[in-house]
Amino acid sequence: MGLARRYGSHPFTTLEEARRELSLDRDAFRRLLGLFARLPGLRSAVLAGPAGKYWSNTLLPLEERGVLGATLAGKPRFPHIVGLYPGPTCMFRCHFCVRVTGARYPHATLADGNEALAAVIDEMPADNPHGLYVSGGLEPLTNPGLGALISRAAARGFSMTLYSNCFALTEKALGGESGLWDLGAVRTSLYGLTDDEYEATTGKRHAFRRVEANLRRFQRMRAERERPVRLGLNHIVLPGRARRLLDLVDFIAELDAAAPERPVDFLNLREDYSGRPDGALSPRERAELREILLEFEEKVRRVTPTLDVDYGYALHALKSGADAQLVRIRPETMRPAAHPQVAVQVDVAGDVYLYREAGFPGLPGADRYIAGRVGPGSSLSGVVERFVTERVQVAPRPGDEYFMDGFDQVVAARLNQLEADIGAGWREERGFLR
Ligand code: SF4
Repeated sequence: MGLARRYGSHPFTTLEEARRELSLDRDAFRRLLGLFARLPGLRSAVLAGPAGKYWSNTLLPLEERGVLGATLAGKPRFPHIVGLYPGPTCMFRCHFCVRVTGARYPHATLADGNEALAAVIDEMPADNPHGLYVSGGLEPLTNPGLGALISRAAARGFSMTLYSNCFALTEKALGGESGLWDLGAVRTSLYGLTDDEYEATTGKRHAFRRVEANLRRFQRMRAERERPVRLGLNHIVLPGRARRLLDLVDFIAELDAAAPERPVDFLNLREDYSGRPDGALSPRERAELREILLEFEEKVRRVTPTLDVDYGYALHALKSGADAQLVRIRPETMRPAAHPQVAVQVDVAGDVYLYREAGFPGLPGADRYIAGRVGPGSSLSGVVERFVTERVQVAPRPGDEYFMDGFDQVVAARLNQLEADIGAGWREERGFLR
């Protein structure tokens, strides 16, 4: 079925584009769309396509909750997902990171900042247990109050994932009644497999051996304490290092050996998504990457069989040799009203950022993407309500697209698509699947 194939690989196609491709008149096309709404088999065929993850992981859950509908209608709504960015600083200086060298949040602001973040946790509606996560911005483990924030969220039923470089996931940080054990998952950004690779990427000497020791200890302690927190790795395939993927499996097997009854739970593999020229693999290495991914998959099956590998959309498509549309929002397709009903990020100053890669202190132009500040007398729902009802708009400038991460881009692409469908008279059918 052509339409299932089209939306299974190009989910952001507008209905008019699809209709024109099929050379159908509006009535015939409407009847065809009706079949997709009625027949679960057709829906499943779309979800089974190379872009199926966009649908199942991101778009359909947001549609089910009415989040995209509220955003399109310009209605205030508490953000569906809230990122807490508590880190005042970072010990690394990764060459691809946008953070401003030397810029940090003053230590003296931490107490007030943690109170603001605690208030956000208290305000978050409890009906979405995975709606809160901890990330950055800067490195979360550099905030000594982090454990208390995690325990506070866990007490309200939130299962939070911590995104961290894990350099500071030390014995001290994990000791005693550390709140870190109340996390749902720790997702470790891995920047290499040797000290030299780490130094080339992060600028820090002897960092790999320390992260490795931290992860082994974490493995042992979580098994001893019988804590449900999951452990995963996030690995970006950097130029010149595609072949290292095979060694990554051995590294994970070594971590598994530290607690054989609690092997590493998941691995997220990604290409550098930023679109920056120095992040892209050469055409030759990219061509090789497909073979490497197949070898990698086979090795995972053999050596770390319980590991849940998420290839992300681009690598999944590359692995299956499929033609797939990569989302690329440009300044001219950015949405001036952003999407705070879908997601916002709150840093340790209490500033509410509209995009995930904007929450760094001193980042030029990023302050334009602050919707307001949470603090005494100012709640997160109040900040979002003001931003939405006053119809604040941010005029995009060249380079602003780098403030958006992959999730932000998918949300913006979907909203643009829905608006185009509605504009073309397809209000009922907008977005193909819902
Ligand atoms: S990418 Fe993360 S770990 Fe690296 S410098 Fe930036 S904030 Fe620090």
